[in-house]
Amino acid sequence: MSNTLEGKVAAVTGAASGIGLECARRMLAAGASVVLIDRAEDRLKTLCAELGTKAHSLVVDLMDGPQVSGILPRILERAGGLDIFHANAGAYIGGPVAEGDPDVWDRVLNLNVNAAFRSVHAVLPHMIAQKSGDIVFTSSIAGVVPVVWEPIYTASKFAVQAFVHSTRRQVSQHGVRVGAVLPGPVVTALLDDWPQAKMDEALANGSLMQPTEVAECVLFMLTRPRNVVVRDLVILPNSVDL
Ligand code: NAD
Repeated sequence: MSNTLEGKVAAVTGAASGIGLECARRMLAAGASVVLIDRAEDRLKTLCAELGTKAHSLVVDLMDGPQVSGILPRILERAGGLDIFHANAGAYIGGPVAEGDPDVWDRVLNLNVNAAFRSVHAVLPHMIAQKSGDIVFTSSIAGVVPVVWEPIYTASKFAVQAFVHSTRRQVSQHGVRVGAVLPGPVVTALLDDWPQAKMDEALANGSLMQPTEVAECVLFMLTRPRNVVVRDLVILPNSVDL
């Protein structure tokens, strides 16, 4: 079975950090050209210089609707095609609903839900026209198991799961696969917002994963034969009791 992405072009959002960066690295290692999309311009530049000539940077603020709608021609201009789109960027918010700040909720929902859906809307016509493509979302275990301390984040990832399932059924006939990875806790900057007590407990339980684990799973999804889709790939530390 092929384990290579040689000749493929991938674009990954939120690629300047954490899971997105490791997925971009793994795709590059498998031979793909990768467009790293993020708003962190300086970090993107430094990373792409390190990652080699097949890594291309694309500065986009995913909260800016027109920038997201215009993403496809900019990807094609940098890399000459698009076979894989990884809607990965996301933000986290936890805490009691009664004490939450709805303005912060709006930002999380806009990034995790609206920006992700808009970016897929922008690239799908290209994949449908070429009768081939892969859309991968970084969802979360919170997209299938409601997490009690993070209702807004959970709601955003349930929305992602609903979109993945419906969109896949719409586009499978065009040769486009849509799937999601659903990780449990992964050591990235996203967990900076976790309460210290929760982080201490997770460290004590050994219940944190590395972004490389997620990247290996994304590569597994992308390298299945074209007639097979991995729709929901849950990745958990074995010690997590869910
Ligand atoms: P991270 O904070 O390390 O990376 C997020 C990246 O998104 C950053 O590079 C940031 O600059 C970028 N970004 C944020 N807002 C942006 C915007 N408006 N425009 C462009 N780029 C923007 O976080 P991560 O943990 O790697 O998260 C990636 C995805 O993984 C998210 O969808 C998150 O929900 C999901 N996830 C994370 C975990 C975890 O425990 N870390 C678990 C499950 C799912």
